[in-house]
Amino acid sequence: MKTLFSGVQPSGIPTIGNYIGAYKQFVEMQHEYDSYFCIVDQHAITVPQDRLKLRENTKKLAAIYLASGLDPEKITLFIQSEVAAHAKAAWMLQCVGYIGELERMTQYKDKARRQNQKEGISVGLLTYPSLMAADILIYSADVVPVGEDQGQHLELTRTLAERFNAKYNDILTVPEVKHPETGGRIMSLNDPTKKMSKSDDNQKGYISLLDDPKAAAKKIRSAVTDSGSEIRYDKEEKPGISNLLDIYSSLTDRSVSDLELDYDGKSYGEFKTDLGEVVEAFLARFQDRVNHYLESGALDDILDRGAERAARKADRMVEKMERAMGLGRKR
Ligand code: ATP
Ligand code: MG
Repeated sequence: MKTLFSGVQPSGIPTIGNYIGAYKQFVEMQHEYDSYFCIVDQHAITVPQDRLKLRENTKKLAAIYLASGLDPEKITLFIQSEVAAHAKAAWMLQCVGYIGELERMTQYKDKARRQNQKEGISVGLLTYPSLMAADILIYSADVVPVGEDQGQHLELTRTLAERFNAKYNDILTVPEVKHPETGGRIMSLNDPTKKMSKSDDNQKGYISLLDDPKAAAKKIRSAVTDSGSEIRYDKEEKPGISNLLDIYSSLTDRSVSDLELDYDGKSYGEFKTDLGEVVEAFLARFQDRVNHYLESGALDDILDRGAERAARKADRMVEKMERAMGLGRKR
């Protein structure tokens, strides 16, 4: 069976963008792969976090993974900082990557720009992709389902794996990236040229999976749309409506062309009211399941078991990498 790895940061409460770009794919793929799903808290601290909030978000994120439909009996769900192999491998991969490669990453450039206005830019923000490469490579992942924003990091992961293999020993699996067919890049509701992000300072831009369902419907109704009145998918001319069509299509599993046909001749207002209802119903059902997991007391056991299983696999690869690089003693 092939192996899958993917991670989400507890940097906030995941958005419907994260659901559509990441969780929905996870659920569809979990039975075909030996699947590792990680709460990447070490990535979250590349920008400042409140300690208590981070812990709270980590727990909620675990519940959200499961509420999305992942089966804890089948998959391995765990917290990155509880498996030491990630940080060890990240250091080795930092010594394989080049500064220039990291400085070219658009996520670094975007987040550094935002961060620079508040306080300094952490070294971790720059070296983040080495940790992400480590996350993936220590499980010998064959496939990594992520949103489109992570494509560049995945490309770098492949480069680092190939360079490591060529320089030291051919032990790392070069992973494939997998983006969803629809909704690989959900955009901000108040600026459809910007990706929806859970760490956005402006709450109007995103719908969090734990937003009050009625308030979320309202956010949809007040989403920025385009000039004109036609409901047509056109990312260049109509980025706002296209984004809403992507959300609609993903949450209902109806094709965009089917929706275009349905809304032919109808107004933006009617379209947004309907989508608001879709989002409201989706969130209400989703949050019932999240609350079930938060109250069930099973989360800690699932995460403990997950960390153990993950460490068993990852430690073996870290040892191989250390041997290949000549670290430690020969035994
Ligand atoms: P942050 O702003 O803290 O980086 P984020 O919303 O980008 O948060 P991540 O934890 O970085 O979320 O990413 C988790 C997963 O969600 C990744 O697979 C990422 O590609 C995907 N993802 C993030 N934003 C979007 C989006 N707007 N549309 C589709 N997928 C997304
Ligand atoms: Mg992100």
